[in-house]
Amino acid sequence: MSRKTALIILDGVGYETAVTQCGYLQACHEAGRAKRWKMRSCIPTISLVMYETIHTGLAPVEHGILSNNALGPSQKPNIFSALRSAGKSAAVVGHAYFHTLYGGSAFDPFRHCEIDDPEAPIAHARYYSMEGYGKRNACAPAEIDLCAQATMLLRKHNPDYLLLHTSSADTIGHTFGGASPEYRRQVAVIDDALSRTVPQWLEAGYDVFVAADHGMNPDGAHGGDEPSMRDTAFYYFGEAEGPAAETVLDQRAIAPTILSRIGVDIPGSMTQLPIVS
Ligand SMILES: [Zn+2]
Repeated sequence: MSRKTALIILDGVGYETAVTQCGYLQACHEAGRAKRWKMRSCIPTISLVMYETIHTGLAPVEHGILSNNALGPSQKPNIFSALRSAGKSAAVVGHAYFHTLYGGSAFDPFRHCEIDDPEAPIAHARYYSMEGYGKRNACAPAEIDLCAQATMLLRKHNPDYLLLHTSSADTIGHTFGGASPEYRRQVAVIDDALSRTVPQWLEAGYDVFVAADHGMNPDGAHGGDEPSMRDTAFYYFGEAEGPAAETVLDQRAIAPTILSRIGVDIPGSMTQLPIVS
């Protein structure tokens, strides 16, 4: 079994917001074209920490990155290292943190915002820094631009693993709060862009997963153990079978799920069973 596989990470989008605001994803679920489960994030529910959990299949206390201020290269077997060992390819459109974690060096925007190098740890990437982000300027790329970049990489390079990571809901959630109209609206904007993107990827033969790193509470915060921070939605477009719809999934299962779809050996450190098979 070997499927090209895409993972879309919706930064800071909690379960309730996803299922109430993502009309496209929910329409696919309702029509039986996508499976959907609730997924519980590990803690602390912090972005960088969760990126590493999503890609290593390890809880934060096991992988050791426990803060956004602990930015550095991943020290554990992860999706990208497993793909490289198996001779498989990857492409990323996402926050610059992903370059520092898995790209082989600290992020330098003048050298790394675009990468097309077959010898690089991630051969094809488009990163954004969000430098200057604050209440006056979200510094977040437009959703459709991110989707278009990822689709261009898919068309040109047909990577075995395609990662698309969007930060804008997290940014707007921090600014206005997770119960605000601005946050809900931004999640709908992301969903709208996905409605024009995911069908192209499915047409190209990809399995597509949509996940979140963590949610957002009404204060505009995350990091702790509240349901609004930990509960996220996990969607799957593909033919494989998964657990019953009411099953609450473990975020550590994402990495072995991705690798098993691509047909790559799962590192022994990833102990969760794949979600679909
Ligand atoms: Zn955040």
